[in-house]
Amino acid sequence: MSPADLLDLDASLTEEERAIRTVVRQLVDDLVRPHVAGWYEAGQVPARELAREFGKLGLLGMHLTGYGCAGSTAVAYGLACLELEAGDSGVRSLVSVQGSLAMYAIWRYGSEEQKQLWLPAMAAGEAIGAFGLTEPDHGSDPASMVTRARRDGDDWVLDGSKMWITNAPIAQVAVVWARTDSGVRGFVVPMDTPGVTAREITRKMSLRASLTGEISLDEVRLPADAQLPDATGLKAPLSCLTEARYGIVWGALGAARDCLETALAYATTRTQFGRPLAGFQLTQAKLADMAVEWNKGCLLALQLGRLADGGKLRPEQVSVGKLNNVREALAIARQCRTILGANGVSGDYPVMRHANNLESVLTYEGTSEIHQLVVGQRLTGVSAFT
Ligand SMILES: Cc1cc2nc3c(=O)[nH]c(=O)nc-3n(C[C@H](O)[C@H](O)[C@H](O)COP(=O)(O)OP(=O)(O)OC[C@H]3O[C@@H](n4cnc5c(N)ncnc54)[C@H](O)[C@@H]3O)c2cc1C
Repeated sequence: MSPADLLDLDASLTEEERAIRTVVRQLVDDLVRPHVAGWYEAGQVPARELAREFGKLGLLGMHLTGYGCAGSTAVAYGLACLELEAGDSGVRSLVSVQGSLAMYAIWRYGSEEQKQLWLPAMAAGEAIGAFGLTEPDHGSDPASMVTRARRDGDDWVLDGSKMWITNAPIAQVAVVWARTDSGVRGFVVPMDTPGVTAREITRKMSLRASLTGEISLDEVRLPADAQLPDATGLKAPLSCLTEARYGIVWGALGAARDCLETALAYATTRTQFGRPLAGFQLTQAKLADMAVEWNKGCLLALQLGRLADGGKLRPEQVSVGKLNNVREALAIARQCRTILGANGVSGDYPVMRHANNLESVLTYEGTSEIHQLVVGQRLTGVSAFT
């Protein structure tokens, strides 16, 4: 898988998995790499156009089956996430939120009518989806959410606010989680429903090539069939997050790979004290340690992928992967930045952009601390946070 595949991991991929990876890498080379530095600087991204291109390739809801979805293996989906995030974490977020959060929620918990209505359009990238769990005052602790859905006759009426919602400013549909008299429930909310507004969150210093917003719900009246019939309790949104976190386990490796390849190329061409940076033992130690961590991260992602494909992946195993791979990817990005010296802080190179992006990746879909607590609970049998 490169840098420089120290463990021969490529050999453990099937021909089909390698072929999918090649196609996605080419797509990123063509559609993302030439433009992403500019998108990042401007804080804008042509997400709708990208979604349609990704849809044509079957990348949206890629690991789901039916309804226009590609039905790929978990490993192939992971490799696609890696290649997308080698372009930019924001671009991978677009695909993850669409496929693993919004589409997965409908695919797993929706009625046949909801699936028919939304999934084919979302798989094609014609409808963009968002997933609203986090609130202004409730992030790591979604069980305390205050967004409420109450019955009024057959209808539901939603009130509340969802914060930091990826894709919200351009979404046609959001899966919104709300408290009801019978616990947390999910709702499929068309974004043009009266009372729904999406405000873009600007001034982000991270994930700038991704659109993030606040969704306000003010007396939003929805028909009875807007509820996801099979989603009962908080375990439903948490299961969607497990899906998306799995993609992050792979995706973070993509950002780290791009940093490592950039630093390797830089170290071999930049000369100081009459020799390339790569000739200094301290530089080689950095490169070696980073490559070791990167390859270990791939091994971990591959193990989780094979478990997922065997139907045996457990949520706390995904926590192990998200915790380790994002933490190590961020450490790699920062270390690569040092190898590039002053150029490391320049937008002419991708390293600082990746490092900044990975700060968001460290926080969303469960912070590192929350994943430590999940693993801690598994080890000790004691929950430190519920
Ligand atoms: C760019 C971006 C995009 C996002 N997209 C989405 C999206 O599409 N949909 C969505 O629903 N959400 C989204 N989020 C929100 C994200 O999931 C939350 O930010 C995350 O869950 C953390 O919540 P918080 O920011 O409220 O932090 P808090 O929960 O307030 O946590 C702050 C700090 O306290 C720590 N902490 C909290 N509780 C504990 C504890 N019990 N023990 C130890 N430490 C603790 C945390 O680990 C963290 O370090 C996005 C966030 C970002 C930055």
